[in-house]
Amino acid sequence: MGDQRWFKIRVYVSAFCLAMVATVILATTYKAFFEPQIVATPAVEVLEPAPAAAQDPVDHGFIYTADQGSSAYRPPERVALADPSNYGERYTVDAYGNPLTQDYIAVLHETVWSANSAINTFQTYHPRDEDQASYHAIIDRDGTVIYIVPPEKRAFGAGNSVFEGPNGPETAVTNTQFASSVNNFAYHISLVTPSDGQNNAPTHSGYTDVQYKSLAWLMAQTTIPEGRIVTHAVVDRSNSRQDPRSFNWPHFLEYLQQYPSRQA
Ligand SMILES: [Zn+2]
Repeated sequence: MGDQRWFKIRVYVSAFCLAMVATVILATTYKAFFEPQIVATPAVEVLEPAPAAAQDPVDHGFIYTADQGSSAYRPPERVALADPSNYGERYTVDAYGNPLTQDYIAVLHETVWSANSAINTFQTYHPRDEDQASYHAIIDRDGTVIYIVPPEKRAFGAGNSVFEGPNGPETAVTNTQFASSVNNFAYHISLVTPSDGQNNAPTHSGYTDVQYKSLAWLMAQTTIPEGRIVTHAVVDRSNSRQDPRSFNWPHFLEYLQQYPSRQA
């Protein structure tokens, strides 16, 4: 009788211990597998505008930061990286083995559709060369700078294109299957099109004041001189690009020249 009671107690204790162990295992499993999904990480990292003293959230690569401290304006910034199929490495030699030594130019575009539409396109895997496209950065209607392709990489922003520099035409053939292009030495920036100008509508009310401000800020961070900032329309040789339509150069230059490094 005593033995049986002792046996029962041992069974109860064992069952209790097993239940505790099971609870701990379940709780750990739940924590490991379910909690991270409850606190979902957004697909696109949203970065708060950083105060000047904070570490720069974006690796600007070739972009220098000389003017950052002297400017009161700092646009909101976020990163929405393109799928790697939509950009590549910058070449040091062309398709014929000639060294490529061009300085950077900045090429201005407009998205034609919304920022999200452009980002969706760039984040889509494109196995076919002819479908691959990207800009380095987009400037949204509210002035937010959205980084798409790291500046040290080659974005696919222009097809057949030439920059008429002071020392003659600048372009590069990096693939004999395609026309020569400025992509290898270009930093492509695209302004989000106003809603009335989407899909190349005949109307186009232009860009917002903060878009010009953010574009000037972004350009002031770079080593690209004013004379090497051009529009896609100017470098295009396919006779099919007019962007960015309604671009107001005096408005942009007024903001750009407020930066000490850009003053004549
Ligand atoms: Zn363009």
